[in-house]
Amino acid sequence: MSTPNQPIKDVYDLHIGGEWVSSTDNERFDTVNPATEKPLAKVTAAKAADVDRAVQAARAAFPTWRDTSPDERGRIIYRIGQLVREHRDELALLESRDQGKPISQAESDIEGAARYFEYYAGAADKLEGTSVPVGPDQVDFTVREPYGVSAQITPWNFPANLFARGVAPALVAGNTTVVKPAEQTPLSSLRLVELCAEAGVPDGAINVITGFGDPAGEALSSHPDVDTITFTGSVTTGQTIMKQAADNITPVTLELGGKNPAIVFPDADLEQAADWITKAIFTNAGQVCSAADRVLVHKEIHDELVERLVDHASSYDVGPGSDDPDMGPLASEEQLGKVTQYIELGRKSNATIATGGNTLDREGYFVEPTVFTDVENNMRIAQEEIFGPVLTVIPFADKSEALELANDIDYGLVAGVFTSNVSRAHRFAQRLEAGNVYINKWFGDTNQTPFGGYKASGIGREKGLEAFDSYLQTKNIAVNLTDDSGGDLPGA
Ligand code: NAP
Repeated sequence: MSTPNQPIKDVYDLHIGGEWVSSTDNERFDTVNPATEKPLAKVTAAKAADVDRAVQAARAAFPTWRDTSPDERGRIIYRIGQLVREHRDELALLESRDQGKPISQAESDIEGAARYFEYYAGAADKLEGTSVPVGPDQVDFTVREPYGVSAQITPWNFPANLFARGVAPALVAGNTTVVKPAEQTPLSSLRLVELCAEAGVPDGAINVITGFGDPAGEALSSHPDVDTITFTGSVTTGQTIMKQAADNITPVTLELGGKNPAIVFPDADLEQAADWITKAIFTNAGQVCSAADRVLVHKEIHDELVERLVDHASSYDVGPGSDDPDMGPLASEEQLGKVTQYIELGRKSNATIATGGNTLDREGYFVEPTVFTDVENNMRIAQEEIFGPVLTVIPFADKSEALELANDIDYGLVAGVFTSNVSRAHRFAQRLEAGNVYINKWFGDTNQTPFGGYKASGIGREKGLEAFDSYLQTKNIAVNLTDDSGGDLPGA
């Protein structure tokens, strides 16, 4: 295991074509430690011309990478996974300082990142097409081919993990990539690209451009030489990206937000449910797309569950990620402002704060784990993604009301049911409008399981083998076996 002693540089350039290069105008900005509010490093603000250089580097690297034998591609990608493991401590510390999360949660993210490279590496030489039985006069088969240049636009809540989630399958499928991490948390992507080069990824196959959504993200998603876009982030930015991609008919995979119901029935193990829900809303200070934001609880057990949730939440130890507390700060000043506004909105709409609700009187962007009761499903705190450690609890009278409330939301990322009744669990799994359903647990998705949203939560799937659908397009090849030069008509 590596020592976490790789120093953070004072200044970071862009990583294009295998080299560190400065931007066209040399503009830089600070990336800040959210636990101290102090700058960690200066990072380059890429402009449209820099994005163009990165896309051209990826384009130039594409034919060679595409034509590298699949087993060799797989070996290189597997080596990235090993290097990520070897540098786990260093990467986790870097992530914790840049993003704010407790060090043990950052370690888990890095383990997950290593697993993405390992998991997809093994698929490199198994991306097979099909043979189609069309009769004796024609041989017909499909091949799956990479798109070309894959743009990866990532958010600030799981920067290293999401770099791996997109880059690993994109590269394994034979694409080259341009990654734009969020402006708040660029450091782990800038380190990962170095490890990828050390593993043998050729120059230009992964490029990292740092900077802001406008202009860098916009230039990338509207670039005519980008062949496919994978975006993880908010619904509003996802909508903008679809519009930016439309002129070039660039396909998009969108992993967007969630406002996820956790439904608790009286026959559930309440202590276990409270444990799962607490982890599911306060991990990474609630900045998780699949957080359990909305508890729907049967009115018979409402008070008992709330008591347990409050006990858990109020015992949380909150502090700088480097001390490995239960919960770290929010990732940025902007996010702190957003979360405190929602807490204020909850108060004003007459919801009750059962615990928490305050910021900490210290440097850093800290807010207490917060539980709201007396919440109505039409309140904004019950409908909008707060993306902070704020749980809303809503009672229901019977199972049909539970299902109605669970689905009465624009989002559809994940949902969970806590019950000991197997048929009820399955009935809810069938009817919940969400891409992932957890029964008697939370965060049940792994690297191997497809993940993505129904409704406004997104388009397409990441993780698992389904992720390859975002990185491979199907070509059908028809070979005539007859001497016949005519006969077939379109649509026949
Ligand atoms: P965001 O504001 O939408 O930003 C995401 C990324 O898009 C950032 O890199 C951002 O750049 C970039 N961007 C902004 N405007 C752009 C534009 N016009 N064109 C192209 N790129 C642009 O999201 P966030 O606040 O970072 O992340 C939180 C959101 O991510 C939440 O809604 C959360 O639920 C969602 N999320 C979803 C999943 C999932 O798998 N479904 C996983 C994690 C997070 P800058 O930040 O540098 O400006």
